[in-house]
Amino acid sequence: MNSFEKITIPSEGEKIIWEDEELKIPNEPIIPQIEGDGTGKDVSPAAKKVLKAAAQKTGHDIHWMSIYAGESANDTYGEYLPQETLDAIEEFRIALKGPLTTPVGGGFRSLNVAIRQKLNLYTCMRPVYYLEGIPSPMKNPENMDMVIFRENTEDVYSGIEWKKGSQKNKNIINYLNDEMGTQIPEDSGIGVKPISEKATKRLVRKAIDYALENRNKYQFVTLVHKGNIMKFTEGAFRDWGYKVAEEEYGDNVITENTLWEEREGKIPKDKIVVNDRLADNMLQQLITRTSKYDILATPNLNGDYISDAAAGQVGGLGIAPGSNIGDGKAVFEPTHGTAPKYAGKDKVNPTGAILSGRIMLQYIGWDKTQKLLKKAIEKTYKDKTVTYDIYRQIDGGKKVKCSEFANLIIENMESFS
Ligand code: NAP
Repeated sequence: MNSFEKITIPSEGEKIIWEDEELKIPNEPIIPQIEGDGTGKDVSPAAKKVLKAAAQKTGHDIHWMSIYAGESANDTYGEYLPQETLDAIEEFRIALKGPLTTPVGGGFRSLNVAIRQKLNLYTCMRPVYYLEGIPSPMKNPENMDMVIFRENTEDVYSGIEWKKGSQKNKNIINYLNDEMGTQIPEDSGIGVKPISEKATKRLVRKAIDYALENRNKYQFVTLVHKGNIMKFTEGAFRDWGYKVAEEEYGDNVITENTLWEEREGKIPKDKIVVNDRLADNMLQQLITRTSKYDILATPNLNGDYISDAAAGQVGGLGIAPGSNIGDGKAVFEPTHGTAPKYAGKDKVNPTGAILSGRIMLQYIGWDKTQKLLKKAIEKTYKDKTVTYDIYRQIDGGKKVKCSEFANLIIENMESFS
């Protein structure tokens, strides 16, 4: 194994290997972990403990290896995202990550976005589903079972922007107004929104592959875009998405038009349906026709909004998991941020971080472990032993700390192992 300057490789456990386009998972993998800023210091230790316990109770083990980004990296290396951290994820293939702070309106660029871009983790995959026992504002929260595939490397998240009044800003406005016939006011900030054919197609492939692998559960892949307004970026996203579906998955996929024009709305057993929706409509369809949607494939910004809105329907940000997936490498992290006002108070809900670990368990094929984890979490909620965010939404129940909630999940594993 390579040696690192500041990272200590655990003496026990083995590396996950990427070979012949396949991950080889040892029984006791070493998994790098970024604790995160703010409430990362609360949720990450809780998640690590629960995931290790679930692994041990199902005949495996996990050996966590601390790596650094954000404040912890600045303390250790004097920089926020050291190369060694990226190298460790490349080498050990997967990592668990807590949230990291990003300043608004200035300061450094998002470390989360940088990690996704530098490691080419081009798919942000966020499953959104209902767990029994969790309160929801919806009448039928169990109808929510979607997996959002959000493009992770481009769109307005590319970070190509120029501040009002800067020389580059003036240059670009002059060029556009003089050469391209636009009439952009001089006091504008400027951002660029690139959406490429390559990145769109690889994202849509991931979404369709996932739908096909889980055909017993999912029937629809929906391309979500604002192509009516942004024709050559979001509109192109839709067109390239259909192109991939038709050209590369023609035997397994039909479009919604074909479904109604040629099949009277009946989906053939061996096929999935690809359709598309405008992003604004999608946000209301999430609420009004929840059960009609399965897999959503979206450009970067739409996916960010839609996944938080969907999470709100099944209990909120505290329980929403996420993952960033490339080819044979992945980083698993909750959807929520660092919630600074709660940092270090042992108060917030660790479920989002723990369920991100559940996606990791599914990714490495530990089915027994992920099932045990889900059952134990559901039992904890059914017993109404909950953190503050859920406590304020239910009648009765017992409010527990972040770490206590994690310990209860581990205790509850006993009922099922
Ligand atoms: P946030 O940290 O997600 O917090 C927003 C609100 O969501 C909190 O005030 C809290 O609501 C609720 N919440 C978040 N985490 C929770 C948890 N574990 N348990 C229960 N409730 C939870 O969003 P933000 O305040 O907009 O962002 C703070 C910082 O995080 C920013 O620097 C942002 O850039 C960063 N961020 C990082 C990531 C990432 O690392 N991937 C993602 C998003 C944001 P109540 O106040 O109602 O209790």
